[in-house]
Amino acid sequence: MLVSVAVPVPFLGELTYRVPEGMAVPAIGARVRVPLGPRVITGCVVGHNAAVFTEGEAKAIHSVLDAEPLLPPTIVELCRWTADYYMAGLGDALRIAMPPGARRERPAFKTERVASITTQGLSAIGGAAAQPGSDADDAGRALTTKQRAALDVLAGAPAGLPMSELRDRGITSDVIRRLVARGLTSMRDATQDRDPFEGQPLESGEADVVRELTEEQRQALVTLRMLAEARRFSVALLHGVTGSGKTEIYLRLATDVLQSGRQVLLMVPEIALTPSVAALFRRAFGTRVAIQHSALSDGERHDQWHRIRRGDVDVVIGTRSAVFAPLVRLGLIVVDEEHDSSYKQEETPRYHGRDVAIVRAQAEGALVVLGSATPSMESYQNATSGKYILVSLEKRVMDRALATVRLINMRDEYAERGPDVVTSVALEEAIDRRLAAREQVVVLLNRRGYATSVFCRQCGDTFECPNCSVSLTMHTTHADGRSAVRGGARGGAATAAEPSRISGWGRCHYCNYSLRMPNACRKCAAPYLEQSGFGTERVEAQLKIRFPDARIGRVDRDSVRRKGSLAELLSRFGRGDLDILVGTQMIAKGHDFPRVTLVGVISADVGLGLADFRAAERTFQLLTQVAGRAGRGAQAGEAIVQTLYPEHYSVQMAVRQDYPVFFAKEVEFRRAMEYPPFFAMINVIARGRSLEEAMELAGDVARRVRAQAPERVIVLGPAPAPMGRLRGEHRVQLFLKGARRAEMRQALQAALAGSADVRRRLTVDVDPLNVL
Ligand code: ADP
Ligand code: ZN
Repeated sequence: MLVSVAVPVPFLGELTYRVPEGMAVPAIGARVRVPLGPRVITGCVVGHNAAVFTEGEAKAIHSVLDAEPLLPPTIVELCRWTADYYMAGLGDALRIAMPPGARRERPAFKTERVASITTQGLSAIGGAAAQPGSDADDAGRALTTKQRAALDVLAGAPAGLPMSELRDRGITSDVIRRLVARGLTSMRDATQDRDPFEGQPLESGEADVVRELTEEQRQALVTLRMLAEARRFSVALLHGVTGSGKTEIYLRLATDVLQSGRQVLLMVPEIALTPSVAALFRRAFGTRVAIQHSALSDGERHDQWHRIRRGDVDVVIGTRSAVFAPLVRLGLIVVDEEHDSSYKQEETPRYHGRDVAIVRAQAEGALVVLGSATPSMESYQNATSGKYILVSLEKRVMDRALATVRLINMRDEYAERGPDVVTSVALEEAIDRRLAAREQVVVLLNRRGYATSVFCRQCGDTFECPNCSVSLTMHTTHADGRSAVRGGARGGAATAAEPSRISGWGRCHYCNYSLRMPNACRKCAAPYLEQSGFGTERVEAQLKIRFPDARIGRVDRDSVRRKGSLAELLSRFGRGDLDILVGTQMIAKGHDFPRVTLVGVISADVGLGLADFRAAERTFQLLTQVAGRAGRGAQAGEAIVQTLYPEHYSVQMAVRQDYPVFFAKEVEFRRAMEYPPFFAMINVIARGRSLEEAMELAGDVARRVRAQAPERVIVLGPAPAPMGRLRGEHRVQLFLKGARRAEMRQALQAALAGSADVRRRLTVDVDPLNVL
């Protein structure tokens, strides 16, 4: 018997092995130890009756690690689809589906030594099982006070007690050891689940009110219920404006699906950003909820995975990789904020969690609900063409109005107050009013750091990353959190006098290269370096100067490096311990802070200059989402958007927060330019030590693809990538465009067949979201 095995080696296809005489045939999804070159590694059986070799030629499996399949066969198939579609190795996809530690022979459960009292022990203290005449143990030795006390404690815990707990009660391991030696106590290893919710009570303080649904919510739920009850595959797009109460609908639909005996997967872009959703589900479904995301420790993730696999769980909440959760009775997948680009993995396998979710639901006959206030162009196109069912919520709950959006033309502001203006007069006055009314403010700038570039005014010298084609961003703190501001100015704030003279570290946002900024020019020794462009650190510093009494917090990737600090900042803001929250797009996502009445957008233009056909879509989404954070409580909300391009259509449409109108306009542009969702794209990046080397490789691949592909497939390039150098490598790109994705993939696959070393020097991105 021959079987196919996938191994964790990048881009490697399935390998064939022989099941030796006398070994039971391992199940699909079981792990096996197999020889590969000089090593023996852990792989996963992915197929039976492989016919690549004759039995005599194939190497034999060394051993089988799982009597029962570790991965359900449905998940093996999903990995196979993922690997094929995204042109990665099957082992690359399986790596994501496997729990941490799966390469090791035994699962990495946390075990603890547990002590229990034996029958002899019980009789020694005259307990329940005492037999007449044996109140001392067989050797006739009396018990010490400590031993006696330990046995008394253990007698009260028939299931045994972990050593850690005994220690907490003042019983040392020494005492237990002596009792074990005398046969009065026994020891065993017991598995302990590491629980990411540990210490968080199931019941929250606030009472759960059973809400009356709005008429729109009710109708949406009726439609979705009908689809769920059909027990067939379908996709619904729940397009609901910000604050329309989508979460409530997910919760009720999930309740129904659970009652019908099936399971629910809820996908969110980033767990830390949506702790309220996880808390809500946990309150509703208690310990039958598991979470899966990368911020958990390996141990927690491992244990949660096995709880799901054992069937102890009915609801899984997680980020993109949770799409591979080993549920076997799936009835519903909810993809919340389906437009969010964090569903796309930007490393091999470059899969999109939402799209894999749809493929999974198709295979398992489940309903998918894609939820968003600003759906992706792809999903909305599928909804208007009838491929998905469109369910809309056009109003906020409780008749609350959407925030009004006001545009501030920053050209006028610069003309009046000079080029260093960060916050317009209008925004500052609005903040003043909100602070006076004890309301809260969110300030968005989708760019981190203090200054975006530093240069010498005398000789023009600049600070570029030596490894990447970008300039270094100036930060007031080192990547490890050290502050540049001597004398410990609070929170790294600049001085009022010269905010553009603050020094710090230059950092590359792509490769993390870091450099202490000198005080003088490295080339001409001129004593002053100029800074230009600003990011969230500078905004925070300016706000601290302008609003000295306000409590200000900052949320971006630098400020939340420490585990738990993001949740902490958000909950401080939620409790009202902060007045202003400054941040990147992290603060635009899904939060529900009822006391926020003002949202300030420092620059609507951050993404607009990029050579990316999705720039308008991203800008519209970000502005609409962040405006959606205002006015979610009883007080009406307002958004003030600063821009240099007030006439740009994505800015204009965001002011109106009218998605269908934006879509109608954007879709025409995509159709005319032959971009997604009408045309599929595959981005191929050739990497090399020199530009020539990368060019040559890309040219070679382009020729091969052109020879393979039908004329309908357009091959653009090669041309240097917008990020021409990244982490020391030169990059040249090719685009494949066409109406039929399968055709494009086949052509590329055929072009690369048998050239594993070429494949390794390419980055292939199917349905790319980021084309830099
Ligand atoms: P969305 O995800 O659509 O932006 P949420 O689900 O966060 O909106 O809901 C917005 C707010 O409205 C939340 O505070 C939620 O608890 C509340 N809410 C939802 N449904 C109702 C309802 N039917 N009546 C009153 N409040 C509701
Ligand atoms: Zn770099």
